[in-house]
Amino acid sequence: MDLVSKGPTKSLYAKVMHANLASIMPQVLGVWCEEAGHDVTFVCFTGLENLVEELPEDVDLLFIGAFSQGAQLAYSISEMFRRRGVITCVGGPHARCYPQDCQLYFDYVLGFTDRTVLEGVLEDCQAHRPLGQHRSAETQPLALPGVRARWKYIEPTLEKAPLFQMVPMLGSLGCPYTCAFCIDSVVDYQPLDFDEMRDDLRFLREKMKKPVVGWHDPNFGVRFDDYLGTIEEAVPPGSIQFAAESSLSLLAEPRLKRLAKNGFMAMLPGVESWYTLGNKSKARNTFGAEKVRQVAEHSNLITKYIPYLQTNFVLGLDTDHGPEPFELTKRFIDEAPGAFPGYSLLTSFGEAAPLNLGYQEEGRVLGFPFHFLNNHHAMNLKPKNYEWIEFYDHVIDLTKYSFSKRAIWRRLKANRGGIPRIMNVVRAISSEGKGRIQYYTSVRDRLASDSGFRDYFEGESTELPQFYVDRVRNDLGPLWDYLPEGALEHDPYAYLKSMGSTTAEPAVAVAN
Ligand code: SF4
Repeated sequence: MDLVSKGPTKSLYAKVMHANLASIMPQVLGVWCEEAGHDVTFVCFTGLENLVEELPEDVDLLFIGAFSQGAQLAYSISEMFRRRGVITCVGGPHARCYPQDCQLYFDYVLGFTDRTVLEGVLEDCQAHRPLGQHRSAETQPLALPGVRARWKYIEPTLEKAPLFQMVPMLGSLGCPYTCAFCIDSVVDYQPLDFDEMRDDLRFLREKMKKPVVGWHDPNFGVRFDDYLGTIEEAVPPGSIQFAAESSLSLLAEPRLKRLAKNGFMAMLPGVESWYTLGNKSKARNTFGAEKVRQVAEHSNLITKYIPYLQTNFVLGLDTDHGPEPFELTKRFIDEAPGAFPGYSLLTSFGEAAPLNLGYQEEGRVLGFPFHFLNNHHAMNLKPKNYEWIEFYDHVIDLTKYSFSKRAIWRRLKANRGGIPRIMNVVRAISSEGKGRIQYYTSVRDRLASDSGFRDYFEGESTELPQFYVDRVRNDLGPLWDYLPEGALEHDPYAYLKSMGSTTAEPAVAVAN
């Protein structure tokens, strides 16, 4: 089971995009399980299905792949199946970031998962309770089943996407860059098999009229010539469209020309901050207004060749203080009108990155339920240089500016192509623009009016505000009854404790 969504949703964005955001590893596990002689039922939950009806009845072993925002849903599903005598196993980003918590609710918790790790679980296949077994390979797998082998899972998932269908592909794992906040910075860079990639691209042209591929590589464009060479060899230029995440520093003009010729229609580079993390952009040694100018110029160059550009920013970084970072981002919106700004509130995902140990040593991590850890529903780090209300005021102001009628109109005019234009409008008027403004405003108003709410944010209380409890209950629907006792809470200092640290005690009270 692949949990793309953390609960039922009717949002326009979910209807258009969720099926296109399916993960690759649950499909890989399906293929490996079948190759090991097992019958597999594959469910991708996008939030649009009736989950209880989708769940198969006759199961011996249930694998769930989830991001942290899907944890409470995953825990409830696991509990429901365990009551029926099913063995359960969790993998994916949440299991990698919070293995200790997952062990409370699953029989197996998977870190790096290769065929050997999977076969070990299949052979053992027994209840491990109250504490599940944590199993992990030393490294990421060296090879993964390609699109041809995964097609039986890809095809029914994509049938749920009405506007366009994006096939998930992977050309590499890990990243040679060392951005301290990133889960991939500690994974060695490793390209996957180019022959298989070539075969998969040709296969897709047989299966789809106008295929669109979403590269799931953490950083597409490392070994640029090898990848583009393989694509050029495999299929005629432009016969497949592509979307990828890549560092700005890898997107010089000659490469952009080549990407455009080969059908790249969307790029999603990270800017993150105007003051730091410059190793990913060309503007390595520039900061503040000068970096805005350079990145805007580069963004405008990209949109000359690539119709859809999303630039990603992290809000609330320790290097930020005062209104300036937000004002600089507004200036960027003005100077690079075609770029869609993707905002994330600074979040510390357990063991995702070594940087998180520092946050835990400082005692700044809050125990917000995982359900809200999706980069915008909650920020689980107390900002270093902002009071909460001040911070939310800035975030609301920036979000309003970014998705104002003026900004949407300028973006529409600067974009090319039907789908990029539609996507940017859908995102701006759906959950990401209007929805977030409403949500942030309701959080900000509660911070101002409800002392219990504010105390939780300040780490002075561990009592989760009812506002959040109600949202989880609402999202889980009938599965709320299966949420194990205590499963709304977790130990936000588990990573530090797992390192055997005795020197640092959290400075704030935390839920345990
Ligand atoms: S460049 Fe991107 S993928 Fe690579 S370490 Fe930095 S954030 Fe992670």
